Amino acid sequence: MARDFAKDFYNSKAWRDCAKAYKASKFGICERCKQPKGTIVHHKVYLNEENINDVTVTLNQENLELLCIDCHNAEHFKKYSSLPDGYTFDENGQAVPVYSSLHNAL
Ligand SMILES: [Zn+2]
Ligand SMILES: [Zn+2]
Repeated sequence: MARDFAKDFYNSKAWRDCAKAYKASKFGICERCKQPKGTIVHHKVYLNEENINDVTVTLNQENLELLCIDCHNAEHFKKYSSLPDGYTFDENGQAVPVYSSLHNAL
């Protein structure tokens, strides 16, 4: 998969700690719909092969947004509406079962 560049990053302790702290700072509230369903820490500036090693992008709380699954899907896939039930998009843009989404392991 071409998007695997971010895999090591999402598995890193630095990211997990950062995302956990960020989620806690927002009390689990989705920043868009304001419901207490925030599970995904989204990067406003999407990660790519060029910025994946730049901590001012990847670990910068200013660049993060806590979203619920619905809002996160809407953010990344405005153009594509349908996903099978029980699936979501992970931060790498891959359709994955909800329970195995990297973000949801937080
Ligand atoms: Zn939401
Ligand atoms: Zn995202």
